[in-house]
Amino acid sequence: EQNIEKLNGHLARFQRSGILHRIAGADHAGGGGVFETLSPVDKSTICQVARGDAGDIDKAAKAAKAAFPAWRDMPAKQRKAILIKIAEGIEARAEEIALCECWDTGQAWRFMSKAAIRGAENFRYFADQVEAARDGQHLQSATLMNITTRVPIGPVGVITPWNTPFMLSTWKIAPALAAGCTVVHKPAEASPLTARILVEIAEEAGLPPGVLNTVQGYGEDAGKALTEHPDIKAIAFVGESRTGSMITKQGADTLKRTHFELGGKNPVIVFEDADLERALDAVIFMIYSINGERCTSSSRLLIHETIKDAFESRLIERVNKIKVGHPLDPATEIGPLISEEHFAKVTSYFDIAKNDGAQVAAGGEVLGDTGYFIRPTLFTQANNAMRIAQEEIFGPVLTSIPFASEDQALQIANDTPYGLTAYLWTNDLTRALRFTDKLEAGMIWVNSENVRHLPTPFGGVKASGIGRDGGDWSFEFYMEQKHIGFAT
Ligand code: NAD
Repeated sequence: EQNIEKLNGHLARFQRSGILHRIAGADHAGGGGVFETLSPVDKSTICQVARGDAGDIDKAAKAAKAAFPAWRDMPAKQRKAILIKIAEGIEARAEEIALCECWDTGQAWRFMSKAAIRGAENFRYFADQVEAARDGQHLQSATLMNITTRVPIGPVGVITPWNTPFMLSTWKIAPALAAGCTVVHKPAEASPLTARILVEIAEEAGLPPGVLNTVQGYGEDAGKALTEHPDIKAIAFVGESRTGSMITKQGADTLKRTHFELGGKNPVIVFEDADLERALDAVIFMIYSINGERCTSSSRLLIHETIKDAFESRLIERVNKIKVGHPLDPATEIGPLISEEHFAKVTSYFDIAKNDGAQVAAGGEVLGDTGYFIRPTLFTQANNAMRIAQEEIFGPVLTSIPFASEDQALQIANDTPYGLTAYLWTNDLTRALRFTDKLEAGMIWVNSENVRHLPTPFGGVKASGIGRDGGDWSFEFYMEQKHIGFAT
């Protein structure tokens, strides 16, 4: 209740004046009209939001282009200081960010309160990299002194999805700014609130006007226009795989550099020799936290046949105890799904599973009739050819598939169009080494859930993405290598 009171305080201004675009340090109503953003908790209208069109994107891209030279040339120490101030601003408003995010997306407070702080960590981490970002190499040859330097690519577009939208935006925007790029951000239409808070914090921290611009709106108009704009040199995109291929086509005429973090159907493989207590905790955490609306969720459990029955029955017991409820209640583990459309998609798999011959061992039901709540769900007696094993459901829904041998586990794990993450539970080190070598995934954790370490590469293979984030990999995307040869 305390949280609801605080939330209402924060929402009042959005309800009064709606959410406008922020371009070159000023509010813009734009030319595309407005849309309403709804809360998935009770389907109520939160506020009106400006619906960006190609004209708004053009203004924002021009602002980012105009602001680029001065931002690029600002001394690194000064840029670093601004990024640190942004991190401090996020920390100061972390509660507001988390409350708004919970209400906008349906994600539970217990996870979103941490996600806001992770946004600040992203800015701090990349602030620390600013001074070295442009360092190059000296590569001597017989007749030349060869020098490489690295320069920011120019104004970039950042397009983000609705699951943990604040944290994901910082994950793109912080390295882009650290590299010396300027940014036009197009947040997801389903979760516009916290992107507005981020641009306010950045401006209060001293980020010059036009360095970060936010255009709200839909993918098919604002998003598409951003990917087609000639002044935008690169697009950092997080979202669905099929949207990634649309962006590739849209960006072809202007030869856009693209970086894609896309969908997943990630396996968690549990061998009979694993620490089964820890494995059980991790299996539950990686699919039933954050509403299962996370790209790195382990949505396929591959379980050795000798431990299947015991493991599944303990899993069912735990899944049935997960608390579904109001996202602002600190005890809640799962809140409502983001939207009517997504709710329809996720719940459609309840029948798909049954029709394909799987068993609904837990959940498989809608909860209440005021918001988009469902019970956490476990499908058993499944095989990897079923749709519930092949398609990204993106909800608190786990499909359990037995395997008989290491070879079969590997074959099932790799038998999907995706390749983002994989999780392996075994105490046999040589098996782990053999297995991780052959797994088709950009990121693999052995005897661990997903623990993000910012200097490591983050990204997927196959339909899960192109490119890597994290550490210096982020700068590889937002910067260009330059070679200079001096005759000696
Ligand atoms: P989505 O692809 O529908 O939308 C993502 C963003 O793209 C939104 O801002 C949307 O407006 C915009 N968009 C849509 N069509 C566009 C177009 N034609 N041109 C330009 N922009 C367009 O994805 P979503 O449903 O918002 O998010 C869920 C998806 O994101 C899941 O597939 C999930 O796995 C993925 N995801 C991946 C990662 C990762 O790191 N790999 C992280 C989080 C989410």
